[in-house]
Amino acid sequence: MSAEARRGAGMTSARTRERLIGRLREQGIRDEETLAALSSIPRHLFVDEALATRAYEDTALPIGHGQTISQPYVVARMTAALRTSGPLDKVLEIGTGSGYQAAVLARLTGHLYTVERVGGLVRAARQRFQALRLANVSVRHGDGCEGWPEEAPYDAIMVTAAARVVPKALFGQLKEGGRLVVPVGVEGGQELLLYRRRGTAMAFERLETVNFVPLLPGGIV
Ligand code: SAH
Repeated sequence: MSAEARRGAGMTSARTRERLIGRLREQGIRDEETLAALSSIPRHLFVDEALATRAYEDTALPIGHGQTISQPYVVARMTAALRTSGPLDKVLEIGTGSGYQAAVLARLTGHLYTVERVGGLVRAARQRFQALRLANVSVRHGDGCEGWPEEAPYDAIMVTAAARVVPKALFGQLKEGGRLVVPVGVEGGQELLLYRRRGTAMAFERLETVNFVPLLPGGIV
């Protein structure tokens, strides 16, 4: 049996993934389409081989460059917040990281655009999207604080790094009625906010307390 087959038969099997989905359900994730999307994406392919056996624990894990792949519960919560609040034909993600959240979103959207500032992460994520044959994902190496204006407007935007202040450009790239989910605050005190565009106004509701790495302004690395 190859190493890949052994891993597939053990800690990274479909059954292990289903246990994670069961735990997410218990934690209150009710949106079946979101749960189906999570169960269709093998999270162990988005982390280092050495961490693969921990991929179906409900925890954030390191992905290099001082960054982390988000906790599955948080991925599910943010995905469900966008999916249950309106259309998702065209979606923008800021902070590609490993590409896991983008892959989950890609299952639920017409086209997913995602922006990452660290070049090494962009390259690794692109390879994963190709390996999984996710043809409806476009990745850009750049500063997500500027959004992706050429493809705007979007039905929804998801920011997967914590902003002290939500970058103004992102509000401007939403369609009328479009939603933006974003963690706001500094380390130790972040809240997940769900905004909705109403004309020139942005209304928001608080979803819950979260803990993300910071959204860093500019400076492509
Ligand atoms: N969604 C990712 C987790 C993201 S961690 C996943 O599923 O794995 C946050 C990511 O945001 C990091 O990769 C970090 O490099 C990126 N980031 C931080 N500031 C950014 C910015 N201004 N523009 C684009 N990406 C940024």
